[in-house]
Parts: sequence; C-alpha cells; structure tokens
Amino acid sequence: MSDERRVLKGIPASPGIAIGRALVYNRRFASIHQRPIPADGVEAEILRFRTAVDEALDDLTRLQRRIAVDFDQDILKIFRAHQAVLEDPEVVDVTVVRIRRERTNAEYIFDEVMRGWIASYSSIENPYFRERTADFEDVQYRVLAKLTGSAHTGIEAKDGEIVLVAHSLSPSDTAEIDRSAVCGFITDAGGQTSHTAIVARGLAVPAVVGTNIATQTISDGMMIIIDGNTGMVHLDPDADTIGRYRETKSQLSVLEHELQELHDLPAETRDGRRIELSANIELPAELEDVLNHGADGIGLYRTEFLYLVGNELPSEEDQTRTYQRIARRMAPNHVIIRTLDLGADKMPKEMPDEANPALGQRGIRLCLDRPEMFKVQLRAILRAGAEGNVSLMFPMISGLQELRRAKALFEEARNELLEDGVPVNQSMPVGIMVEIPSAALTAHDLAKEVDFFSIGTNDLIQYTVAADRGNPSIASLYNPCHPAVLRLVASVIDAAHDNDIWVGVCGAMAAHPLAACILLGLGVDELSMSPIDIPEIKSLIRSADYQELKTITREALDLSTSEEIMRFLKPHQPKTELDVSDMMRI
Ligand code: PEP
Ligand code: MG
Repeated sequence: MSDERRVLKGIPASPGIAIGRALVYNRRFASIHQRPIPADGVEAEILRFRTAVDEALDDLTRLQRRIAVDFDQDILKIFRAHQAVLEDPEVVDVTVVRIRRERTNAEYIFDEVMRGWIASYSSIENPYFRERTADFEDVQYRVLAKLTGSAHTGIEAKDGEIVLVAHSLSPSDTAEIDRSAVCGFITDAGGQTSHTAIVARGLAVPAVVGTNIATQTISDGMMIIIDGNTGMVHLDPDADTIGRYRETKSQLSVLEHELQELHDLPAETRDGRRIELSANIELPAELEDVLNHGADGIGLYRTEFLYLVGNELPSEEDQTRTYQRIARRMAPNHVIIRTLDLGADKMPKEMPDEANPALGQRGIRLCLDRPEMFKVQLRAILRAGAEGNVSLMFPMISGLQELRRAKALFEEARNELLEDGVPVNQSMPVGIMVEIPSAALTAHDLAKEVDFFSIGTNDLIQYTVAADRGNPSIASLYNPCHPAVLRLVASVIDAAHDNDIWVGVCGAMAAHPLAACILLGLGVDELSMSPIDIPEIKSLIRSADYQELKTITREALDLSTSEEIMRFLKPHQPKTELDVSDMMRI
C-alpha cells in the first residue's frame, strides 16, 4: 500500500483520537449462496439454525438490559418486537420445515422466508404493518450475521478499542452500539453538522465522516487511527505513527483534565461580559455528560431523536416523564425543549418521499400539518413545564403567520390542560429557532411575539449559501464566516436586543473557536453546543476581551469574502492557556 493509500481524508466530526481495530458495519449481505445439505447433515443444519436464533435472542435480551439504563422505555418496544418475530412459529418453524424438506442450507432458506414476509408486509397499505418490515429486516440481519459468521466475530478487540466503520449511522444504529466497546466512528457519508456527526459528539466519541470510501477500503480487524480534530484516518499505521498518536492522546487527556478545572467557573470575558454556555442534547442518556462538562443549562433538546430511535411517537405520558426527568436533573438550570424537527436528514421511515426534503415537509411544517400529533407533544412539554425551568422552542419557523399558528396550538393545548385541572407553567417562555433566511430577515417582527431566539446556524448556513450541510463534496462552500451568513446573524442579534429579548446560537458554529469569538463580538447572549465542546469554549471566553471583539467584528462585517474575514480576525482570537489546536499538530 502506498503512503497516500494508508491515509483517508474525511471531515472531522467529533474531536479526539481513537486507536483501535476496525469493525465494518454492513447491514447488507451481498451473497447468500444456496448450498445442498446431505441427508445425514440435515439435523445438524437445523441445530445450527436454532443456535443462531437463540444467540440472536440472547443479544436482544442483553441489548434491552443496556437500553433500559440509557434510553427511555419506548425504545425497548422495538427490540421486544424483534424478539417477537424470532419467537414466531411462522418464521422459525417454517424455516426448519423447509431446511428439512429442501435439504438446503439454513441461511438461504431463512433469507427466503424473511424476504417473503418483508415483501408481503411492505405491500400492505396500513402504515402500522408497513413499519413492521423494518423489524423483519433487523431480525433477518441479526440471524444471518450469526449464520454467516459476519457477526463481527473475527475481531479481537478489547473493550473500548473497536473503530466502527459504516456507510452512515442512523440514530437507531447508535442505540445498538455498545459504547463501552466502541472508541471511534468513520462513515462514508455525512458532513460536519449531519446527524451522524451530532450523535458522535453527543456520545463524546472521536469521529470522521464524509470519507466516501471508508467501507470499501477498510476491512474488519484492520488497525486504525482516527484523528477527529483533523479528519485524518490512518490505515494499518506503522509503529512510529501509533507511538506519536498515543503520545498526543495522553497529552489530550491531561488537557481535558485541566479543562475540567473550569467546571464551576462562569463563562465570563476578562472585561466582565457573562455568556450562558448551554448544551445540546439528542437523548436523555447524554445528561450526565452535560453536568460533567459544566453547562449552564440545556440550550437545545432535539426531541425528534426520541421518535427516530423508536418507530412511533412516544405517548403523552412517556414524553412527559422524559421531559420531567431532564428538567429535574438540570434544575435549577434551564432546559429548552425543541418541538419535533423531523424531516430532511432526520427522516423516519414512514415519511413520504419528497424530491427536495430539506425544503419540504420538515419541522414545524409537518407539526402544523398534523395538529393532533403535535398537541400530544405540546401537552407533554407544558406538563413538564410545571417543574419551572422548562422553555419551549419551535424549529424551522419561516415567518410570522407560521409562528402564530404554532402559538395558537400551544395555547389550545394549555387551555385544555388547565380545564382538566392539570398543573402547567402559565408563563412558560416560548422561543424560536432562527434558521431560515426569511425568519432572519423578518426577525424584527418575530421578536415582538416570542421570548427568545436561538439561531440555528447549521440550517441557516445551508439555506443561505444553498449548500447541503451533509454533502462532503461541497463542504468548502458551507462556511460560517461567509459575509452573508455573518451579516444575517448580526441582524438577528440586533433585532432581538432592539426588542429586549435574549438571543443564542445553537448551531455547530457556536463551538468553533474563531466563529465563537465573532458571535461573542456580535453580542450574543448564549452559546449552546455539544457538552464536550463546552470547556474549550469556556476557556476561550474567559481569555477574551468583549469590547475589543465587539469593535473588530463590526469591522469584519464590511469585508467581502470569508477568507478576508478569517484572515482579519484570526490574530484577534484570544490565546488560551489550553490551546487544543496547537497540540493537534502531529
Ligand atoms: C441548526 O440548524 O443549527 C440546529 C441547531 O438544528 P439541527 O442541527 O437539529 O437542524
Ligand atoms: Mg436546524
């Protein structure tokens, strides 16, 4: 292998260094071959099949035990459904009968049986039955992996040393991952703010996405180094490279330890400007990380992940319990619960295909289209709001009429609860994500009817420069320092302050050191990010001078290109004692 082929370059998605052995996660079995079984080998073949089913059932039981600790009860239902499929005589007994009758290998027959079920369920109109095809596919994969020996058995990795390589990872894939065994992720697809990247950061696991060819180039068991800060992936590295990375990894853990010392200190500039530093979470399992990294609260709880990890929207009771649990654990700090933002790359299986999903039925549009579903969530948030520290936020608001419709449903839900005598917080703050250029440009009108803004730069950038946030081939266009983006952000901050409401930023830009300095200089009141990024940004804020940043960022807004802006501002980026980027120059 030439030197160039030993390194893959992708997009750095979650920082840190991982050194381990590859496990290529592939849900497709390219070839299940038909093999005749001699008459005297049939019983052994049936035994082999029954053993694979038993092992798959054991895995499901283990998975449920782990999930019961980390995730909400509803997610367990999926795995219970999988268990039910494997206990169904129509699946198991039919396979056994056919192995015996046709004297053919177990994987071939089982694959045929499952394909039959999948085909008949997917042709049924009723969405409940159509959704069940996913359960059959999961079970098919699980048992075939056992039978074909592709169940990743070839890997001899100690706990925490598996580098997971996949085309992409869905939230439900991540729910299945044993986090004590996986030390890093590499995917072919995805960009820096794709949801694979968000989940990796949430789990504090180093990750590189958008490599395009990782699953074709890497094989099971290969030694891998992931550099989550630069996006480099080293394949079969020599001893020298491993040594250098081990050294950096241990320096980084010392640094992390030092950053922890900032835990109880405020995010306050040298000249006394205090910023709220909050955390973004996708799953309740991330709560401990939020507390460990010294967040002032939760600035964005992406509730759609509750839906994506399961197959159906959790009930009002389940949602209320989850939101209450988070609010109580975070009290007295605030929790901003964002209503469902399904669609685009957070796509549940039953949603209709659209030619252009990022511009289609997503976020608040979908919720306003399905008011009964939406009101279940609004009622749950309102009930959890009785805890006192909960705010509600609508995603993907494009204008005032849409905001008014969402608020009307919110009020309807509140009045219903009050009529039923259910305690709610009557003055729960209601805010919006400003992540569509039309909202940014009408921010003055919107600010008069909400309590706060949180600027969603992940989407605001993609819609402003028309560059898909998950497409690695145009990642260079997706630049937070584009003058159009910065001028829009500045105008939203000014509109909020002119109307006496606070404004934060919850897109990934908030955790980028240079961009965070710009946001600070533009006067933002809150920054919300993955918990792992909080200590570094806190250290940066504590080294900054607000008045100096304020003057120079306003000057930067007059520059015409992102390169000029970055070149102009870089020398003003405060030097912290703890500069991770210096350490990462290997
Ligand atoms: C954003 O768009 O910046 C944001 C925080 O929301 P999401 O990444 O969930 O779309
Ligand atoms: Mg968004």
